[in-house]
Parts: sequence; structure tokens; C-alpha cells
Amino acid sequence: MVATIGNQQTIRSTEVFDSLNPATSEVIATFPVFGEADVADTVQRARQAASWWAELGWAGRQQRLLAWKSHITRYMGRLAELVHNETGKPVPDAQLEILLAIVHIDWAAKHARRVLGPRRVRSGLVAMNHAAVLEYQPLGVVGVIGPWNYPVFTPMGSIGYALAAGNAVVFKPSELTPAVGGWLVSSFAEVVPEQPVLQLVTGAGQTGGQLARSGVDKIAFTGSATTARKVMAACAENLTPIVAECGGKDAMIVGSDADLDAAADACAWGALSNAGQTCVGIERVYVAQDVYHTFLEKLADRVTSVRPGDDREADYGPMTMPGQAEIIESHIADALARGARPVVGGIASIRRPYVGPVILADVPEESKAVTDETFGPTVTVAKVADLAEGVELANASRYALGGTVFAKNKKAAMAAARALRSGMTAINSVISFASVPSLPFGGSGDSGFGRIHGADGLREFARPKAITRQRMKPLLNLTSFTRSDKDMNRLLAGAAILHGRRYR
Ligand code: NAP
Repeated sequence: MVATIGNQQTIRSTEVFDSLNPATSEVIATFPVFGEADVADTVQRARQAASWWAELGWAGRQQRLLAWKSHITRYMGRLAELVHNETGKPVPDAQLEILLAIVHIDWAAKHARRVLGPRRVRSGLVAMNHAAVLEYQPLGVVGVIGPWNYPVFTPMGSIGYALAAGNAVVFKPSELTPAVGGWLVSSFAEVVPEQPVLQLVTGAGQTGGQLARSGVDKIAFTGSATTARKVMAACAENLTPIVAECGGKDAMIVGSDADLDAAADACAWGALSNAGQTCVGIERVYVAQDVYHTFLEKLADRVTSVRPGDDREADYGPMTMPGQAEIIESHIADALARGARPVVGGIASIRRPYVGPVILADVPEESKAVTDETFGPTVTVAKVADLAEGVELANASRYALGGTVFAKNKKAAMAAARALRSGMTAINSVISFASVPSLPFGGSGDSGFGRIHGADGLREFARPKAITRQRMKPLLNLTSFTRSDKDMNRLLAGAAILHGRRYR
């Protein structure tokens, strides 16, 4: 049976696809493949809904978004089971992901008016007879294209903020997690039944491409850099702006004064949780030479008890996307061929659909395991002279997303954090920046551009609107053909006094 998708819409396309449990290959549900006309219909419906949603105003939207947050919190158990079934991740990890999404909806709902609402700004001496007002208006309809690895948390970083900014949203989840996407859309429709403010379109990459070409007012894309390039090309046809949250190759840098037990524990979690399928997961570690061997021992010790599986005691689940095991295998094989030392696991750790923990040392920096996103439960550990060399190697990547510094000296840790080219850095923890809703999230280079989360994330889904209102007649009427030479001379004399002084 084809799953209902919560849009109350007749779908013209007759093509369908199955969503599978990656651990058991059982069919979870069957979904329609939205064709071009279906996507266009959905966006058309979203246009009407966008006007209604925008007219509700800040208070009306806030009240509904908080009701949605409360609904998700109350039914978190059901959603977590669905996330577990569709991605294979352990239920507690799914709950953690949902909880983070809830925190972000809450923040976006409560701060949208403060960040985006109208405010007076100083008009300056030249325009002192004008009042100046700045406000951020909704874009209209935002298309959100999401990945499968965090099917609630990741798209919510765009959906929650786009809705709070007053937009309607058309959401295209990954073909691997359409049921989770459907749940989110249906749950929103339960608390906002009046208009299809949040809708779902399902299908594979082609449906995402159709959404990018559909004339929506912005695309919020999360996925790989390779796909981001295709989505950007599709968006270019209509000059549709895009925010791109792409992959990473995040590094952890461990200083000689670091708490090594805490660093090893955080590294194990950062590298292995969710089977390493985390954009801000730790894939490379650079450790100061004095503590290198001790850290490596502690990490190996910590990792020995970590086990993948589908049972309730498993630490992480299977590879959600079956093809990922081949990429992981190729990265391990390439590293070993270049002389890397397997400290824990190796090629034999790949037992499809599972991959056991893999720690590789002495991996040449030009190896794929160091340069490319592995997206598996593997990590490379290298010796460096100090934090500065660690930063230098961490920055020698085409990715720049997140990262971690472990060091007790606050000043040195802050300096290293600032010097990392990434968009986010955690000190003495991993991934903590994602749980602070007031902080922006995003990267540069092959990790993408633009920001979700925080005030920047709200502004990403709004259009700045500048308004001046003349309050009194100007002393000098400069924007008129009746302007006199005397007025102009007065202006230039004033400019010379105000701005012409020499600076040394
Ligand atoms: P992906 O293959 O790039 O797909 C991402 C989304 O784009 C999916 O919904 C996909 O649909 C869709 N898509 C594929 N081809 C398309 C096309 N030609 N036009 C429009 N849409 C298209 O990435 P993924 O494998 O789902 O996710 C893993 C990647 O996401 C990793 O690189 C990871 O680091 C990154 N990621 C980044 C963040 C972040 O916030 N920076 C967060 C999570 C994940 P189908 O799945 O149906 O093909």
C-alpha cells in the first residue's frame, strides 16, 4: 500500500518506491515518486499557504510552532522507532536527534520576531531628516532537500527556521528516509490543519532536481558537495538562491596538556556514533607528539567495547546506505597500501550491512582516508608537534565544516579554535555547537555555504527590507533638480570636516 503523505493531494505519477529497513531489508512503506507536474502542483499549493502563514503574524506562527514542538515531544517514542527502522541507528540516538530538533524549533519560534521583526536603525547625519526601518520579510516558498543520516535534526535546521521566518516549505527527504519525512509533515498538519504550510514530495534525486527547478524562492540543500553542484546548476535556471550544507572531514586536535581520557572518549563517540555517518563526525585526529602513544592506547581501549548491531544494546547500527561500505573499504585499502598501520580493525571490519570500528595510524596525508569524506566508523590518528601543526594539517582540506580542540590551556585552545578554518569548533567536547540553537551552523569550501540555526539561520530564509520615511523637510534638498550650488558647497564643506581629516 502506498503511504499517505499528509499533503491531501492527488498525485498524477503512478511510479512508486519502497523504503527499506537497512538492517533487515524489510519494506517499511511504499511512497509515490513525485513527477514534475506533482512537484509543480505542490509548490502552487504552497504559494497560497505561504500568504496565509505570513499573514498570521509573529504571534500566530509562534503559537503554532510551539504546539508542533510539543506534539513532537509527546510522540517522540513513535518517531524515534521510525528513525531507528529507517536508518538503523539505535533508538536512544534517534531520541537525542529528535530532542535537538525540538530545541531548535523552540528557539526559532521564540526568537523570530526579535531577529527579523521591524526595527529602527540610525539614519546618520546625511539622512537625519528620515526615520530608517529595517525588517526581514518571508521569501515565500522554501524547498528543503534533506539527507538520510539525521532525518529529523538535519532538515529541521532548515524547515524550523524557514517556517519561523514566515515561509511555507516543500520538503523532499532522502529516498532512504521518506517515512520519517512523512511523519514530520503529517504531525505539522495535525497542529496546523488550515493550510498546507509544510508539504512533502517523495522520490529520488530527480524529484529533488524538479523541486530545485520549480521556481521556489530558495532551496535549502543538505547532502554531498557532488549533489550540491547539480542542485546549484538546477537552481541557476531561475536564479533561485540556495543554502548548501554539505559534507565534512572534521579534525580533532589533541594538545599535550589535554585530558586524554576525556579526549579518547569524545573521539570514540565523534568518530563512531551513527556508524560515522555524521557530517560533523571526527574523521581525522592530530595529536601532540608527547601524548600521542598514550592517546592512541586510550582510544583503542575505549573502542574495543564499541559494537555495531540491530539489537537494543548495540552502540551503533548498520550503514544506512548500502553502497557506503564500498567507499569505506576503498579508503581503508588505499591507506593500507600507502603504509598505514591498522590499530583497531581493518578491511575485515566490513561485514555488510555493518562496519566495525577502524582506527588507522601513520596514514599519509595524501591518502583518501585523510582527504575524502569516508562517512563510516573509521578514524585516522597522526602525530604532530603541537596544536599549531594540528591546525595547519586540519586546514589543509577542501572541507571546512566543524572540528574539535582538546587542551586545558584556555588561551591556547581558543587560539587554535579561531585558527581552524571551519564554521564551528568545539573545545573539550565534540559536536556540542549543534546543540546551541543560537549559534550558526555551516561551512565553507566543499562543506557548502550559508548558515542554518541561530539568528543567521533565520535571516537565511528572509529578505531584508529597508525603508526610509521622511520625518521633516531636509536642510539641504540634494535629490532635486532645484538643488542649488550653495547647498552643494555646504554639503562638500561638511563632508571635508567630517570625513576629510588625515588618519595616521
Ligand atoms: P546526497 O546523496 O547528496 O543527497 C542529499 C539529498 O539530495 C537527498 O534528498 C537526495 O535524494 C537529493 N538529491 C540527489 N540527487 C539530486 C539531484 N540531482 N537534484 C536534487 N536533489 C538530489 O547526500 P546523502 O547521501 O543523502 O547525505 C550524506 C551527505 O550529506 C554527506 O556528505 C554528509 O556529510 C552531508 N550532510 C551534511 C550536513 C550538514 O549540515 N552540513 C548534515 C547531514 C549530512 P535521494 O537521497 O533520494 O537520492
